[in-house]
Amino acid sequence: MLETSEISVQKVEKSKIKEVDFNNIPFGRVYSDHMFIADYKDGEWTDLRIQPYENLSLAPASSVIHYGQSIFEGLKAYKTKSGETAIFRPKANAARLNKSAERMCIPEVPEDLFMHALKELLKLDSAWIPDQPGNSLYIRPFVFAMDDYIGIKPSDTYRFMIITCPVSSYYTEPVKVKIETKYTRAAEGGTGFAKAAGNYAGALYPARQAQKLGYHQLLWTDAKEHKYFEESGTMNIMFVINDTLITPEAGSTILRGITRDSVLTLARDWGMKVEERRITVEEVINAAKDGTLQEAFGAGTAATIAHIKLIGYEDTDYTLPAIEERKFSNKVLKAMDAIKSGEAEDKFGWLHM
Ligand code: PMP
Repeated sequence: MLETSEISVQKVEKSKIKEVDFNNIPFGRVYSDHMFIADYKDGEWTDLRIQPYENLSLAPASSVIHYGQSIFEGLKAYKTKSGETAIFRPKANAARLNKSAERMCIPEVPEDLFMHALKELLKLDSAWIPDQPGNSLYIRPFVFAMDDYIGIKPSDTYRFMIITCPVSSYYTEPVKVKIETKYTRAAEGGTGFAKAAGNYAGALYPARQAQKLGYHQLLWTDAKEHKYFEESGTMNIMFVINDTLITPEAGSTILRGITRDSVLTLARDWGMKVEERRITVEEVINAAKDGTLQEAFGAGTAATIAHIKLIGYEDTDYTLPAIEERKFSNKVLKAMDAIKSGEAEDKFGWLHM
């Protein structure tokens, strides 16, 4: 176990917190006072430090800029009703970061380093964790290649950082999505299961094309046949058909979402029928046509649940049942919120205090 003393701490002279209107926070633009940094050199993580949030200095040849050897995570911390800090499932993020790291030839960040850095940072910036219901502190850990070398090879040096930003209660309007049948997010054998920076850059262009047509995001399908569903934008996709919760099984092309796992766990606990399997576009479109498609939603940390109100496929838009009628997704959203705020029993041990 790491000792607190192994992290050097340089505090801000003056906190920026008074400048922030916690009732009106723009997403991803306001960062808390401090950030965590560790550098990887000669095969080990060194120089662990917490310092004021500020710009970085990088060599123009830094391999991360040219070749994108970079991975990240996203998780949230909440203030419970009793005022305690609760981080939602951080060890699951640490584990996923290391899965991504392996795929991208990035050295592992030991779980105790990840947890220790996170806890110390949140202790220092605990005032930045909003206590308005539904608001939270978004946490962004990331690791990137630092070599000042233009040749292409895995970097020898890396930086692990954590930054945080307060975010508003993220109620997303129900979304219109388009089934993508030309472009692809991830292929078998590629990097889809990793939270690798480049996956997101490659998804921007197809998403923009769909946005020009009036959709909010894409329903990604498999690279080979565009026949099976994969994900919804940057969330996992779930359907309720005939009272059964169905989601694609998490193979090499799908990011194994922590919200996805939480939703499946709750559904199973409630005795709902759950299927993790390949699901075809045809099956969902047929269900939309014959009225057995009860719900469709994205599951992810940002919004927890993003209801899908309309699905576009081959020039036809299918309108889904009214949001108020959606028993499962409304219930699961409420249950997740109650666990995070400490109002409901944390039966599965998801909160890290
Ligand atoms: N898929 C992709 C591609 C994502 O970027 C995310 C967000 N991390 C998810 C799914 C949902 O994962 P989580 O529930 O862990 O946020």
